[in-house]
Amino acid sequence: MSNITYELSPSDPAAHLFRVRCRIPEPAAEGQRVSMPAWIPGSYLIRDFAKNIVGIRAGSDGRPVSMQPLDKDSWQCAPCENELLIEYEVYAGDPSVRGAKLDTTKGFFNGTSVFLRVHGREHDECVLSLRPPDTEAAAKWKVATAMTASSVDAQGFGEYRANGYDELVDHPVAMGRFTLGRFTADGVEHEIALFGRHYGDLKRLCSDLKHICEHHIRFFRDKAPFPHYLFIVMVVGEGYGGLEHRASSTLICSRDHLPHSSKPGMNDAYREFLGLCSHEYFHSWNVKRIRPAAFIPFDYQKENYTGLLWVFEGITSYYDDLALLRSGRIDAQSYLELLGQMITRVLRNRGRLRQTVAESSYYAWTKFYKPDENTANAVVSYYSKGALIALGLDLLIRQNTQNTKSLDDVMVELWTRYGRPEVGVEEYGFEELACKTGGESLRGFFDRTVRSTEDLPLDEWLAVCGIKVNLRASESSADKGGKPLAKIPSAEMGITLKEEAGLVRVVHVGEGTAAQKAGVWAGDLIMACNGLKAGLKRIAFELSHAEPGDQFVLHVFRGDELLVFHPVLQAPEITTCYLEVDKDSTPQQNAARAAWLWTG
Ligand code: ZN
Repeated sequence: MSNITYELSPSDPAAHLFRVRCRIPEPAAEGQRVSMPAWIPGSYLIRDFAKNIVGIRAGSDGRPVSMQPLDKDSWQCAPCENELLIEYEVYAGDPSVRGAKLDTTKGFFNGTSVFLRVHGREHDECVLSLRPPDTEAAAKWKVATAMTASSVDAQGFGEYRANGYDELVDHPVAMGRFTLGRFTADGVEHEIALFGRHYGDLKRLCSDLKHICEHHIRFFRDKAPFPHYLFIVMVVGEGYGGLEHRASSTLICSRDHLPHSSKPGMNDAYREFLGLCSHEYFHSWNVKRIRPAAFIPFDYQKENYTGLLWVFEGITSYYDDLALLRSGRIDAQSYLELLGQMITRVLRNRGRLRQTVAESSYYAWTKFYKPDENTANAVVSYYSKGALIALGLDLLIRQNTQNTKSLDDVMVELWTRYGRPEVGVEEYGFEELACKTGGESLRGFFDRTVRSTEDLPLDEWLAVCGIKVNLRASESSADKGGKPLAKIPSAEMGITLKEEAGLVRVVHVGEGTAAQKAGVWAGDLIMACNGLKAGLKRIAFELSHAEPGDQFVLHVFRGDELLVFHPVLQAPEITTCYLEVDKDSTPQQNAARAAWLWTG
């Protein structure tokens, strides 16, 4: 049987349209069924990519074939004897890493946004024929993708091959003008393609990534699970995001987060970008190859439920920053600052008292991925709390085994057992494996951390390594925690604010806070605070001179109605965390810390 072929061209960059021709030799005798995915693996939200199809038609032997819609994203084609050709255009206007975008400067797509799934033929090898754009402005475009090339020109246009639909849609493709950095990690070729204007120091970036990638490959005590790897980076004015794939990742990065040759040190912004690269790269193992059983096979048409996202995102979020330390990119103090920020994110979120990480994983599709003004009161992040559970698990296993085993060993075991296609981690599979490595005493750990809303005993866990967990009030909405502060306000309203065209908008109102009790709601525009024109600075100034029990007067617009509220200020919540090494640590605590952070 000949291969299914997808011919894709950026046919009209100015109108943001990709044209796709899908040729299906020997279509199903009863009529071929095809569909567009409703979601993209790695991002747990129904996105209904079929909505971007602009005109779709089928034909065979030069005659039209009817396409009967079955639902919002599937079609039943009439039977035909010879090759079935389905042609359509896709509007590509999504600037995120989850969809497709095309304009006169560059093009990007995930296969889930552009390729029809041919039902019953998902495991067939297929061909992507990538055509160059025919506009003059795009004549110098090149292609960046990790898909296997079978016959391409110097610019990367031509034929690619994928061993089935899952693989076809797991190699995003970017095209345009970009700068390319190359390095090898553990003998494997790696590339980083930077799209968009930037002043980044590519040499520095490649050197740092090489250390991080080598660390992750060696972490799993096996050879890299891909023949080559590609980081696709979209450099923008302001943005952040990433999505993992089997041999590549797509990242969105703010221009000033890249390193600059004039500033050789490490700053917070570049540290954050390296953390993101480290995160997506670790996913090459943890979620791309070690997968929940619920994802095998992926059902592209509807939600795929699992209570394990805390394992796949939480553990990845634990190791992303830890790898920066262990690979020598940052020092221990910098790592403890990042960990303090992670703890702050969890503690500030009152949703931690309402939802468990198992529930947060399960309902990701409707809650975590559909945030609104009340999310922080109702939803816990399986990323941040999951990372802290991973931390606790790591420290307890080390304690139980006198530092002869750790979470690292559980991950290696997980990789050995599940790191191949068609074998998924059952809902309790991870816990079983962790108990096998770290001891039966861990059984109760998962009930307390994964299936309960109890606060995590972080001070107890970290004390074993001689680290003190300090808590303080927050200075402002911009205070991420991780560091001590000399001066903090003694009273608060309990709202998150942002300045919008010179006006102050309430973004979030914390449950049980002064603002909520007085009636302030997210979305309100604060016009005046205590009779003075509102601005972030003005409100911060008023708060800096206030005490718990003081009454504020807020004039706000809700819609077009002016309302007045009188919040009675409360003592601030003590939920901002910073960590420090206890100066009185015992030699045993120092040894435990060095074993954990690899600083010995
Ligand atoms: Zn992730």
